[in-house]
Amino acid sequence: MNIRVDYVTNNPCYQSGRTITPAGVMVHSTATPGIMAKPFRDRWDKTETQVCVHAFVDDAGAVQLLPWKHRAWHCGTGTSGKSANNTHISMELCEPDPLWLIYRRTLTLRSPQMSGFDVTRLQLELTRQGCDPGLPDGSFGPKTAAALTEYQSANALEADGSCGPKTWAALDAPAESLTRFDPALTADYFGKVYDNAAALCAMLCTLYGIPAGEVISHAEGYALGIASNHGDVGHWFPLQGVTMDDFRRLVRKKMEESDFAGQVQKRFGLAEETINYLRAYEYGDALLEKLATAE
Ligand SMILES: [Zn+2]
Repeated sequence: MNIRVDYVTNNPCYQSGRTITPAGVMVHSTATPGIMAKPFRDRWDKTETQVCVHAFVDDAGAVQLLPWKHRAWHCGTGTSGKSANNTHISMELCEPDPLWLIYRRTLTLRSPQMSGFDVTRLQLELTRQGCDPGLPDGSFGPKTAAALTEYQSANALEADGSCGPKTWAALDAPAESLTRFDPALTADYFGKVYDNAAALCAMLCTLYGIPAGEVISHAEGYALGIASNHGDVGHWFPLQGVTMDDFRRLVRKKMEESDFAGQVQKRFGLAEETINYLRAYEYGDALLEKLATAE
């Protein structure tokens, strides 16, 4: 798994230099489909950014924003008054474009125009139903609003040209509907980001002696009273047919299979940056295995 170190030196979490003793790993999902690790990292490399995680993970690998023992601000405070910000290394899974279909945001005409996969699918479904929104360009413009109004009039919906919950429900109803979320749309991407996230968790657990059982989602952190009330990753994993227990099982398996980085770090007393550099190197995994197993 490829980890690129690209610290957000402008972010207050980097600048404050506050550190934690890692006792767990918290897994988040961005809820902002279509933005991958590097552009997300760039968004948060600002002095006015209030939040930070240790890494963004996508289908290509991970981008590391903070040294692992820096304190990130990723989950607020829980009902116990405690916060996993003080104890957990954090990562955000980047979400692919089609996940826009699960958020059901209200699409409406505004400036700048709303855009995304949900708009494209709305346009395709309107076309399929005989209303003409123009080319399916993924931007909600006047032609799309007009076609939507026409659709609403024909289906006894309030003809306001905005796609809200009732209109979404009507659009989703036909068996052939193109606006319904289909897990097959994101299965390939999910397989990769899920595997990369598990590999990163396994590496961190090994480095800091964290049991795989201490890898939790934001939603689980809320249930434990150590994080704010968010549903991630429970809004996404079940749609792809997996649970956090499955994820922890995979982390445990990866820890057992290859602890080479951890062994090399212990054996040679290497710094975290050096290990990350080796892992990012094209033949890094093979080199780590050699170093770990050399007589
Ligand atoms: Zn979260």
